[in-house]
Amino acid sequence: MRTKMVAGNWKMNKTLQEGVALATELKEAVKNPSCAVVIGTPFIHLASVAELLKGSPIKVAAENCADKEKGAYTGEVSAAMVKSTGAEYVILGHSERRAYYHEDYAILREKVLLALENGLKPIFCIGEVKEEREAGKQNEVVKAQLEGSVFNLSAEEWKNITLAYEPVWAIGTGLTATPEQAQEMHAYLRSLVAEKYGKEAADNTTILYGGSCNEKNAAELFANPDVDGGLIGGAALVAEKFLAIIAAR
Ligand code: PEP
Repeated sequence: MRTKMVAGNWKMNKTLQEGVALATELKEAVKNPSCAVVIGTPFIHLASVAELLKGSPIKVAAENCADKEKGAYTGEVSAAMVKSTGAEYVILGHSERRAYYHEDYAILREKVLLALENGLKPIFCIGEVKEEREAGKQNEVVKAQLEGSVFNLSAEEWKNITLAYEPVWAIGTGLTATPEQAQEMHAYLRSLVAEKYGKEAADNTTILYGGSCNEKNAAELFANPDVDGGLIGGAALVAEKFLAIIAAR
């Protein structure tokens, strides 16, 4: 049985003190969740939040890591540095990183490899923009994203990958993919994983949906057989909402 998961992505929100306060609230409320729970925080929160969550079922993710191992890369944070904070996951390939920081397939391939080499589990995001969906090109877009950055992995490495399907037109827009659109895409992604790594690997791959998933629509999205949980942006910033989404999984 594959892991069901609800993961938060705080993005560039919350001061350190606000982040610690939110993590404390979540820690107190999440004792025995029925799914894996991960919170993705800005780099500066990682060490404090990971320490705070020791012994809690909630795991911590970075929102990014460098595509270089170490050295003279001012301002960058390596996978080894992320790992040293106690974080277990790293969100990679988010559409905001692709669009605003020009992270292409090759850069993301490096980031994924470095994350894995350093014992981090990537939550790898893929998804089409509005024009691509309107042109019916969503399948070829996500296929190219997988082939470009993660289908080079060995079967053993693949076991540490969580996928997040995030249609870009749904991120932060209030527009959510319908449960049918999400299921259709997730089933397609699982078929691609099966072609590449075999049916068992595909059945064991966790595929999250992200894009305006909230406490109101989560249950309906998660009810689909290939939707294993959610990657949550805005609604992960409010404890009550994030907890309701966890409860819906
Ligand atoms: C995200 O950015 O990963 C995300 C899903 O954002 P939101 O939930 O705010 O659409």
